[in-house]
Amino acid sequence: MTRARKAPTRPREEAPAFTLALVGRPNVGKSTLFNRLVGRRAALVDDRPGVTRDRREGQGRLFDLVFTVVDTAGLEDVTDDSLEARMRRQTEKAVEQADAILMMIDARAGVTPLDSHFADQLRRAHKPVLLAANKSEGKAGETGRLEAYALGLGEPIALSAEHGLGLDELYEFLAPHIAPAPPEDEAEAEEQDVDEVGDGGEDLSAEDDLPPEAEEDRGPLQLAIVGRPNVGKSTLVNCLIGEDRLLTGPEAGITRDAIEIDWRYGEKQLRLIDTAGLRRRARVDDRVERLSAAETKHAIDFAQVVVLLLDAAQGMEKQDLTIARQVVEEGRALVIALNKWDAVDDRAMALRAVEDRLLRSFPQTRGIPVVTISALQGRGTDRLLKAVFDIYAIWNKRLSTGMLNRWLQQVVASHPPPAPGGRRIRLKYITQARSRPPTFALSCSHPEELPGAYLRYLENALREDFDMPGTPIRLHLKKSR
Ligand code: GDP
Ligand code: GDP
Repeated sequence: MTRARKAPTRPREEAPAFTLALVGRPNVGKSTLFNRLVGRRAALVDDRPGVTRDRREGQGRLFDLVFTVVDTAGLEDVTDDSLEARMRRQTEKAVEQADAILMMIDARAGVTPLDSHFADQLRRAHKPVLLAANKSEGKAGETGRLEAYALGLGEPIALSAEHGLGLDELYEFLAPHIAPAPPEDEAEAEEQDVDEVGDGGEDLSAEDDLPPEAEEDRGPLQLAIVGRPNVGKSTLVNCLIGEDRLLTGPEAGITRDAIEIDWRYGEKQLRLIDTAGLRRRARVDDRVERLSAAETKHAIDFAQVVVLLLDAAQGMEKQDLTIARQVVEEGRALVIALNKWDAVDDRAMALRAVEDRLLRSFPQTRGIPVVTISALQGRGTDRLLKAVFDIYAIWNKRLSTGMLNRWLQQVVASHPPPAPGGRRIRLKYITQARSRPPTFALSCSHPEELPGAYLRYLENALREDFDMPGTPIRLHLKKSR
């Protein structure tokens, strides 16, 4: 079992009012999620009065939400009772004290009788419950997740506590119940505006706003190259990493979850993940292997930037759009590469067709970069990598709270939200909850009544005013008090 990281004891802080209990049978990943949510604040664990041996409590943080997390672990500490009785007592206690419950199952193991036992108890608790199918990174968890519908706790979300996937959905679940944390230091944020405008560099002072996952997430740019068979993925990989950097053996580069290879481009580190070309190179036999839909999804899950490779002669087809949509929905940065440019006759038309298609299909993600290349001739790969690093910088962009709120005042003044039934909707406060992709939390007096069109107007304005073309932007509404 994973233990909370030890950190120096801090002065005791007051426990946040809202409590989330993590419930589930042993080994589903509760501690892992606990550690992720509590992060450095794990020092608070155990030293608070009333925290018994069988529960761990800590101050959890998810984007801009602060709350108390209770991990109901430690069943193995008690020995004098039947397992069922102990489970029931423990869950009862946790549920009683919690404001909301996250029930976790191990999606790779599927639904077990113990899971059903917990679900029965929780259904009777009449508290908000979110069901999470953990260990869902890659494709291994999907069957288990679907099975979990049978538990009768609503739609199970796909979670990976270990990889930090699915936290957005946990956020969506919690956000309506918790007031956003006040800005850490508004005055300080104001001061930084001057040198930050139009810069897009890292704003380290905003680090405290970052979720725990971002702290661990520095390192090589994680790149996936995806596309239909025969568009030239292997040729491009060879061209990018060079024949002389062939993998040394059939096992090289194969990790538990993905095939990956690290390489350097100038000063920059890249990691290429799970691409057909790599799979082919990683195996001795050269049998033609196609990247299945599930494998493509896997690569997207692990990537930060995804290059969708197209055959320029064929343009963008339905299957390509499906992949592109997946990339954007997963919040990854997307670059389109039009390969085999050497073999295209009417280049202007080929390029326009793809750009039109993108504009029509992704009106909300304007400015997705399109780069023309010839992997065979080694042309255009520098432009491609430049586009990759540019979009990566945008994807990482952080905007200060002061600057965002001045912006909010202006856009609302020039185009106020509608007043359905005469009731004015007030947009009070905006803050960037996280980057990768840029994610904003907007507090609003009646979020349920704010029309989708107005939300899209705000998103577009954010994109244009802060120069963030081509990257997914997320705008979460929260009810203000
Ligand atoms: P708990 O008993 O419910 O607290 O479970 P733990 O957090 O101790 O996790 C049990 C095991 O599952 C550990 O080996 C974890 O590393 C592993 N685990 C937790 N979350 C994930 C995940 O998202 N994916 C995978 N593959 N393994 C996970
Ligand atoms: P994959 O299935 O996506 O990995 O595609 P491959 O890299 O195996 O390439 C499929 C075919 O397209 C091969 O015959 C390549 O030589 C050819 N090809 C790849 N890139 C180019 C290019 O830029 N121009 C031309 N004309 N052919 C290319």
